[in-house]
Amino acid sequence: MKSSCAYPSLPSYSPTHYFCSSFKRSARMLEKMEAFNPDKVIEDFEALTKDVGTVQRETLKKILELNGSAEYLQNLGLNGRTDPESFKSCVPIVTHKDLEPYIERMMDGDFSPILTGVPITGLSLSSGTTNGKRKFVPWNDDLMENTLQIFRTSFAFRNRDFPVGEGKSLTFNYSSKPNKTRGGLTAGTATTNLIRNPKLKAAMKYLKSHQSCSPEEVILAPDFNQSLYCHLLCGLIFREEIQVVSSTFAHSIVLAFGTFEQIWEELCCDIRKGILSSRVTAPSVRTAMSKLLRPNPELADLISKKCLGLSNWYGLIPELFPNVKYVYAIMTGSMEPYVKKLRHYAGDVPLMCGDYGASEGWIAANVNPNLPPESATFAVLPDIGYFEFIPANEHICTEPQPVDLADVKIGEEYEILLTTFGGLYRYRLGDVVKVMGFHNSTPELKFIRRKSLLLTINIDKNTERDLQLVVEEAGKLLAEEKLEVVDFSSQTDVSTDPGHYVIFLEISGEASEEVLKECCNCLDRSFADAGYVSSRKVNGIGPLELRVVWKGTFQKVLDHYLGLGAVVNQFKTPRCVGPTNKAVLQILCDNVAKTYFSTAYD
Ligand code: AMP
Repeated sequence: MKSSCAYPSLPSYSPTHYFCSSFKRSARMLEKMEAFNPDKVIEDFEALTKDVGTVQRETLKKILELNGSAEYLQNLGLNGRTDPESFKSCVPIVTHKDLEPYIERMMDGDFSPILTGVPITGLSLSSGTTNGKRKFVPWNDDLMENTLQIFRTSFAFRNRDFPVGEGKSLTFNYSSKPNKTRGGLTAGTATTNLIRNPKLKAAMKYLKSHQSCSPEEVILAPDFNQSLYCHLLCGLIFREEIQVVSSTFAHSIVLAFGTFEQIWEELCCDIRKGILSSRVTAPSVRTAMSKLLRPNPELADLISKKCLGLSNWYGLIPELFPNVKYVYAIMTGSMEPYVKKLRHYAGDVPLMCGDYGASEGWIAANVNPNLPPESATFAVLPDIGYFEFIPANEHICTEPQPVDLADVKIGEEYEILLTTFGGLYRYRLGDVVKVMGFHNSTPELKFIRRKSLLLTINIDKNTERDLQLVVEEAGKLLAEEKLEVVDFSSQTDVSTDPGHYVIFLEISGEASEEVLKECCNCLDRSFADAGYVSSRKVNGIGPLELRVVWKGTFQKVLDHYLGLGAVVNQFKTPRCVGPTNKAVLQILCDNVAKTYFSTAYD
């Protein structure tokens, strides 16, 4: 961090100021909801994106005016200046680690203005993509408003091309119990903060793809499995009305229908008798479900017939929900490996990608809903944060030279820096995006990868994306045998000399020895990174090891994270398990069914 320029005295925190501004914001939000008009939302977005340079300057000014009294900014000597030039010269580029001492103080109950002028109202727990380390980040009403703005925007565009009528959505949403920090601040996942916020409920009136057919008690159920069971049951009960099947991430939808394959007979039994399975024990959920469940043998017979008539569950979603218009979730980035399975369940129902953002703050909306997941892009909303872009090919040792939103170039890759209304300034999110084009003057971004390296032993450098591509190649060999990769993870094992990569694969069925050996060689051969290839050739890195794990192993990994308070709809399988993640490593290693070593470089 840059050293501070001056230490002016800190203004004291005024509760009246806080409540007034919070009240004004809420009133603003409700006003917008009451008057929701998709055409107007699109019109506003078009106007907003005409001159993003100006909008960005204004947005930064707003953020700095709101938060100028925060200790963090005061210490950096901005002295009330709100222009981008002063901002960039005074405020350093930071990572989450740099902000941890400030966040710790908030967690300890320091309610002075630390990162924001008005103290934050809670914390979000980010999923800690790829390496499994979860992070606390600030959450406040402004971020809530940004969330609704993103939802409104993408919904308006989606609804223009795929109108949903007065229906319902089967939304696989789960909420964790928000915890209190040592100092009394509420901390939950971003999804939980959202679901528990009354403003979302008000917004659901018009955001049809977010309006769940399940009662709130199901979403808030204390146990994920009970919640999932009831979501599926509610979906079946309201099958004719379901217009959208959705979740935050594609993984949750695949998990839900994978579970359906196992338990559909039990669900039919409940519908036939009108009695909820004894596997649901939470009293609040049982009471809520008893209001929906009535004996309906015709419906049970119909669902049963449909399930028995499907070939390998292809097209399950439209078969169960005849009026479904689309399937909606984040399907890009680390969710790509689940797209194939999702397409299988969706049959000819379009897949539509969710927006782009993080617990730290939202970035961009999907305003081209017609694009398939493989080519999805996200248009940056220039008034929800101040965005800077570090060219991704910049040399690691040089001082980063970020460019403004208005100055990014088509075809270039960048690492994103966020400055948010939630108290993050020039914050390295860790994502790399590519500019694919422009919507008016705002860039349309494609999510490329997490920046951090996943697999590296010496001169080799492989990211989550590289691993994903390699597993995709091996998946092609399995597909020839009508098998598929259910999930995967990896590890660098340096306990051997030389060290080597280990890849854990869960496969949908039994593959022959021959195919698995070929898969192992294919994984090794498919890492295209020059550092890896050259190290393998001279045995600077040992033969890749494939460990095939038993079916259900990744469910155990998920259960482990749920036990730690994670929520399914935020869950991302850790794609690399470091030595500090002992519990997950143990689960994977305890469940190895077969091991192979590559002979690709022999
Ligand atoms: P979380 O830390 O749980 O809030 O997750 C945020 C991270 O999820 C982002 O930094 C991205 O790496 C990833 N993410 C969010 N939205 C998308 C998207 N639409 N496409 C790809 N990755 C995404």
